[in-house]
Amino acid sequence: MIDLGLFTPAEFEAVIAREYVDGFHKFFDANNPPQAKAPVLHTPTVLNVAIDAEKLLRVCGEKLRAAGGEIWDETEFVRADIAADGVRVQGIHLPTQAPRQTQGRLLIDAMGTASPIAWQLNGGRTFDSVCPTVGAVIDSGFEPGVWDSQWGDVLNSHGDISRGRQLIWELFPGRGSEITVYLFHYHQIHPENPGSLLEMYEDFFTILPEYRRCNLDQMKWKKATFGYIPGHFSISGGDRQTAFDRLMAIGDAASLQSPLVFTGFGSLVRNLPRLTDLLDTALRHDLLKASHLNPIRAFQSNIAVTWMFSKGMMVPTHRFLAPYKVNAMLNTFFGILASEPPEVAERFVKDRAGWLAFNRMALKAARINPSLLLWIWELAGTKDLLRWVGSYVNFTLSACLSWLFSGLPSFARSTQSWLEPRNPALWLWLLTQSYALTYGVGKPQPEILKIKPRPQVTEIPASPSLMKATPVAKPD
Ligand SMILES: Cc1cc2nc3c(=O)[nH]c(=O)nc-3n(C[C@H](O)[C@H](O)[C@H](O)COP(=O)(O)OP(=O)(O)OC[C@H]3O[C@@H](n4cnc5c(N)ncnc54)[C@H](O)[C@@H]3O)c2cc1C
Repeated sequence: MIDLGLFTPAEFEAVIAREYVDGFHKFFDANNPPQAKAPVLHTPTVLNVAIDAEKLLRVCGEKLRAAGGEIWDETEFVRADIAADGVRVQGIHLPTQAPRQTQGRLLIDAMGTASPIAWQLNGGRTFDSVCPTVGAVIDSGFEPGVWDSQWGDVLNSHGDISRGRQLIWELFPGRGSEITVYLFHYHQIHPENPGSLLEMYEDFFTILPEYRRCNLDQMKWKKATFGYIPGHFSISGGDRQTAFDRLMAIGDAASLQSPLVFTGFGSLVRNLPRLTDLLDTALRHDLLKASHLNPIRAFQSNIAVTWMFSKGMMVPTHRFLAPYKVNAMLNTFFGILASEPPEVAERFVKDRAGWLAFNRMALKAARINPSLLLWIWELAGTKDLLRWVGSYVNFTLSACLSWLFSGLPSFARSTQSWLEPRNPALWLWLLTQSYALTYGVGKPQPEILKIKPRPQVTEIPASPSLMKATPVAKPD
């Protein structure tokens, strides 16, 4: 965000609520076979920065307004009509029920996982998995010595599978004495087993004192944090439509977050230079057809391939699974990461593990715990296993292309000055391929592809390449 000129380092410092010293990953292993017990994995530089989200949103809003943008609060999207020369969007101001309209060159759909546009684009295809997550921001209430706010509990299980779920905790320190606690599980989509959040909250309050000693009556609850975090299992970069003429989805609406760690925000931020540069190029040259916009996406083949792991964490509905199994799988993988240098674990958790690292880890896991392969096959079934082979082949192909054409991104940049003015569509295609070869396999190359840092947003005059919205009804 700083590299893109959206924030100064000082502005970002001001929205950081806390940085912790170290984060832990530990899964219950009392009932695991010896080969599936693991030490604590330390990841000091993963999820270590707590951001004050309200402050961040406020600053972003101010910057958008300073750049000539407008924000319509409490306004619901109704419909978008796309014509050859522009897109018209209709909304409704909820408190007054007044209709609102605007038009522009391009509509960006950032309405999240339940976006009606994304549903329409993908013919109602449902999610492949979901993590029901409940939790809270706790102002205070833990006795001294229960948890030191220098540490984060990134992933922790304190028991085995019960009632068809392997529950996992997360705990992150925030500003002052604040602590955020989550409880979640990987959940198979099944009509008879919706994965109720209310039931999860019942469990949350019942077992929180088992996880971290506390008296619920003494806790000061600040806010509830909950949601379904859905995931799509992509085989290749093209199996989800994220664009239409003059329309493009980003963030959760595009559903290209990691299917294993579900870090949708992280995925968007990591791919921000790629998305921004490509979108800016498309807008400057009016290349706004679906064929131009659809390849502008945060897809990473090295991340898509991990969906099989998330499948291994789900207990299929109506199936009995030995209670220790999910913990045993998690411990096998996290035990391997704990035995590797810290950079390896960091790359895995930050969506940057490459083909060699992935294969090395998979082979090591199979050697340490051969029954793992059988367990995954049991959990996933033959059909999904074959489907996954498609993801793996795509990942392998992308990794080979990235290696074979490693010189393409810098070559492309060297052609920009003459190619872009002569053939903008070819330039956009070349740039898209450059990003696919780098960011697309988890190898961001900011030194080659980085957009030149722009002046701070407050100093930018409204850019003609930005969407020009003409509000028909003025907001209050
Ligand atoms: C409990 C929980 C914990 C999470 N933890 C992490 C984490 O640690 N790291 C991480 O990277 N990600 C995490 N995520 C995922 C992350 O929150 C999302 O990936 C991210 O918020 C996606 O951003 P977005 O802008 O695409 O969509 P959203 O944040 O979902 O924003 C969509 C917006 O569109 C609005 N909207 C929807 N429909 C309409 C409509 N019809 N009209 C008008 N407006 C509409 C919504 O009100 C909302 O403001 C977590 C999610 C949950 C639920």
